[in-house]
Amino acid sequence: MTRMTAAVKQAMAAALCILQLGSGGVKDRVRDVADSRREAEITNEYYGMPEADAARIEVPEMEEADAPEVVEVRVPECAVCGAEGHTAEACRKAAVLASIERGAKGRFSIPEVGVDVALFESSAQSVVDRADSAGLFYALGQNLIADHNYQGFDAIRRCKVGTGACIETEDGSLQLTCTGITRGTNTGRDIILENGSSINGMNRGGYTCYTCNETRSSVTVVFFQ
Ligand SMILES: [Zn+2]
Repeated sequence: MTRMTAAVKQAMAAALCILQLGSGGVKDRVRDVADSRREAEITNEYYGMPEADAARIEVPEMEEADAPEVVEVRVPECAVCGAEGHTAEACRKAAVLASIERGAKGRFSIPEVGVDVALFESSAQSVVDRADSAGLFYALGQNLIADHNYQGFDAIRRCKVGTGACIETEDGSLQLTCTGITRGTNTGRDIILENGSSINGMNRGGYTCYTCNETRSSVTVVFFQ
């Protein structure tokens, strides 16, 4: 602070010097005054306290009990995206609404295996082919959810009986539980399971997810109720 004041004064003095160019006497006097003030301030700064006084001042040792408790101030981070300043719930809601704005019914997620995809009510191949876009359609007596394995849907292979899933729409969320996982063949009109039976009517009222395996016709089928 003292230094700053001195600098300001110096600057002011310098400004005065410029203004008073030509009247050398005044200019010199102003400079003299400024210099002597600056010197006085510097003197105070360094020698203001006599050594004897300095020695008498005792700095009390701080005991541990007196030490202020270190409180870590944390801005809550969103558990969904890691950003600060909003809750996970608000973040999720925003993601669902953004998907709906894109024309989706909502979002389908299986948090345990990392599936999280916009759900479009359509059986069109173009919907399945788009990124962040799974098709939801009613066929073979059940709701089918289809997406490509290379768009993250291969993660459904890690589902187990009991794995939870969720369909979030504008109206709220529908909690689902995995009731079975198996492999089958997609014939184009039906999905025939390894045991030879059609999935037709197998998962009534439920949601059946499927995705391609190594070949286009080989699929993994996961049942949710
Ligand atoms: Zn977030």
